Amino acid sequence: MQPSLYIHIPFCVKKCGYCDFYSGVAGDADIDRYIAALDRELALMVPQGLAPATVFIGGGTPTRLSAGQLQQLGQVLGRHLDLSAGPEFTCEINPATLTPAKAKALAQMGVNRASMGVQSFDPHFLRELDRAHEAGTAEAAIAMAREAGIARLSVDLMFALPGQTLPQFEADLRQALALGTSHVSLYALTFEDDTTLTRKLQLGQVQPCPEDLERAMFEAAGRICGQAGLHRYEVSNFAVPGQECRHNLVYWTLGDWIGIGAGAHGMLDGTITANPKDFRAWCEALEAGRLAAIGQSAMRPQERAEALLLMGLRLVQGVELARFRAFAGADFTALCGQAAGRLVELGLLEFTPTHVRCTEQGLLVLDSVVVELASDLEVRA
Ligand code: SF4
Repeated sequence: MQPSLYIHIPFCVKKCGYCDFYSGVAGDADIDRYIAALDRELALMVPQGLAPATVFIGGGTPTRLSAGQLQQLGQVLGRHLDLSAGPEFTCEINPATLTPAKAKALAQMGVNRASMGVQSFDPHFLRELDRAHEAGTAEAAIAMAREAGIARLSVDLMFALPGQTLPQFEADLRQALALGTSHVSLYALTFEDDTTLTRKLQLGQVQPCPEDLERAMFEAAGRICGQAGLHRYEVSNFAVPGQECRHNLVYWTLGDWIGIGAGAHGMLDGTITANPKDFRAWCEALEAGRLAAIGQSAMRPQERAEALLLMGLRLVQGVELARFRAFAGADFTALCGQAAGRLVELGLLEFTPTHVRCTEQGLLVLDSVVVELASDLEVRA
C-alpha cells in the first residue's frame, strides 16, 4: 500500500488557552511563502504522481488560509499527487474560519471528510477555552461543508473541562450527534505547560475535573454514541461502521505516512522523520533547495514493540499479532507474554485468534496496561 500523507498548516486566528501544538498567528505574506515551500517540500519528499492511501491536512487551522490560498494549495497538491482514486482526504476545520468559498476550494482540492473542531456547543466553555468561534457557528460551518459536497463529517469535542458537569457534557455530545455526524473524536482536557489555562490553574482560578467525573463522562460517551449507532473503535473515537478515520488508523497501526510542513512528523517503515517547529527556518531550508528535517531516527526493535503497543492498544480491535511480529521482529508472547498473562488474569487484556486487545476495563486504565507490558520488554531487552 502507498504511504499516507499528512500536511501541517501551523497558522491560527488566535491561540486557544489550552493549546501547546505547534501553531501561531501569521499574516497572508507568510502564508503565501509557506504554500510555496510546501510545493518545494513535496517535490523533494514525494515520488511524482504518488497516489497516497489517505491525505490529512491538519494544524493549526488549515481554514485560516483564504479561499484563494486554499485554491493555491489545491494546485500544489494536484501537481505532485494522483488523487484520481478519491482517497479519504480529511481537512481540519475551525468553524469560525470557514466560508462557502473556502468550503468549495476544499472540495475542489479533493477533501471529502471534514474534521470540525467544535470542542463545545456551550458558550461558557467556548469562552473558557478561548476558542475563536461562538455558539451557533459550528452548525453554520457544518452546513457550508455539506453544501460544498464534503460528505463525511467528524466532530471534535472536548470533555473534562473545568466546572463541566456530566449533563453539560452529555448535552454537547447529543448536540453533535443530532447534526448527523458519522464520527466523533473526544479529547479530555489536559493542562499543558506554558498555556493560559495552566496559568489559571496555578493561580487557583480553575479546578481540574475530578477523576471519577472524567471516567463517568468517558462511560457516558460510549453509551450515548452507541445509542446513535456510532461504535467506539478507538479509546476516544466513535464512528458509524465504515466511517472510521482511515488516516488515523495508519497512525494507530504504525503504518507509513509522509509528513509535510513545519513541525510535521512522518514514519516510513519504522523510521521517524521530524520537521522543525519553526516555519521560518523550515521555509529558509526549502528555499535554499534542501529538506528542513531536523531528525530521522530508525526505531530499535524494543522501541518498535513499545510504540506499536502504545498506539495499537488504543484500538478496540487491539494489535494484530501478525503485524506485531512483522513490525517488532518477534512474537508478542515471546516479548511480553509474562506481563500479558498477569493482565489477562486481572481481566484487563484478552487474546483473539488474531489480535491482543484491552478489555473494556483495560481501556479505562490503558496507560497502566501499556506500562506493565513495556516493563516486560525492558527486562528482556
Ligand atoms: S485552533 Fe487548534 S491549533 Fe490553533 S490554537 Fe486553537 S487548539 Fe491550537
